[in-house]
Amino acid sequence: AKTLPTRGPTNYPTAADGKVLLKGMTLAQLERWVVHCGEKPSRALQLWGWLFRRDKLARTVDEMRRSGEVSRKWCTQLEDSAKMNGRLKLTETVVATDGTRKLLFQVLEGRGKQRTVEAVLIPTESRLTLCVSSQVGCGMNCQFCLTGRMGLLSNLDTDMIVEQVVVARRMARDEDLGEVTNVVFMGMGEPLSNLNSVLDACDILVDTGGLAFSRNKVTVSTSGLVPELRRFCSESPASLAVSLNATTDEVRSWLMPVNRRYNLATLIEALKEIFPREGRAQRHVFLEYIMLKDINDSLEDAERLVRLTEDLPCKINLISFNPHDGSEFFPSPMEQVRAFHDAVASKGRVVTIRHSRGDDASAACGQLGITELIGNSE
Ligand code: SF4
Repeated sequence: AKTLPTRGPTNYPTAADGKVLLKGMTLAQLERWVVHCGEKPSRALQLWGWLFRRDKLARTVDEMRRSGEVSRKWCTQLEDSAKMNGRLKLTETVVATDGTRKLLFQVLEGRGKQRTVEAVLIPTESRLTLCVSSQVGCGMNCQFCLTGRMGLLSNLDTDMIVEQVVVARRMARDEDLGEVTNVVFMGMGEPLSNLNSVLDACDILVDTGGLAFSRNKVTVSTSGLVPELRRFCSESPASLAVSLNATTDEVRSWLMPVNRRYNLATLIEALKEIFPREGRAQRHVFLEYIMLKDINDSLEDAERLVRLTEDLPCKINLISFNPHDGSEFFPSPMEQVRAFHDAVASKGRVVTIRHSRGDDASAACGQLGITELIGNSE
């Protein structure tokens, strides 16, 4: 079996100027660093409160100093040796008519410097979902995806992923949008190609002293990297979604080259091991299925999907495709989506039709990265 690099007891993550990255550390790491600075470990949770609590979400150490709750000496030490910012700068927010907001961030450091990454805030009646990016570009080359055309430019570090959530939480608070309830890793990038940073970010997202999201409200989506998804599920309490999109190896290998490495049988077998029918109560995997006209939307596909998911605790999401310029694919007509849905549901599968949101702000699934592409072609 392939050995994957593990997260280690490590040096503390630092920025180019040598300052430690406060948003890039799990609680255990932050406690070690705080003790290393000669303070009590409880300073770590205090810091997290200032960084992540909805009523604080501090941008600068000075906000802590002015509150009078934190000692001046410790504040000066923090200013000298640590960075509050997650090394992304919010440069623009585009609001679509349905209320979806696309947040554009400039990457301030690293190989992706000056590049743009995007997060999308999607309101519905009962939820406010944030879709975050984990990489600048993506190396997986899925044929229907605009981000895939960029190739991989760089990984985002833990602090950069966490920063997207903090900025969205602040925006939701300041604009009275309610609480961000869900976070999905479905923006730019294959999250499991950047596994260590994503695992640490998920830890910070679900830690009750951190961003305190409920564990089943944080979902990481993969194109199907089997060793990495096994490790993710064994180390993270967050949920897993797999982008399936086809029911034969022939079609899936064409749509998603990752299938040439881990074919459908290998992928589904791994999922059945990770999500046994009995045992780990209430755990299931989400299967995402983008409906592409005349490619994967036939009733034979529906039958194969039913067979593939036999004995796999899963929820299937059928997603309408957003065609983009130069795309060779088209969305399935709604009546075909409904017929497909009914065929799968009639066999007892839990299946939902998802409508795209925010199309007019180029923020819908599969359209992230459009700004970057336009930027590249100028
Ligand atoms: Fe990458 Fe996801 Fe696009 Fe595939 S669909 S190229 S994994 S961003």
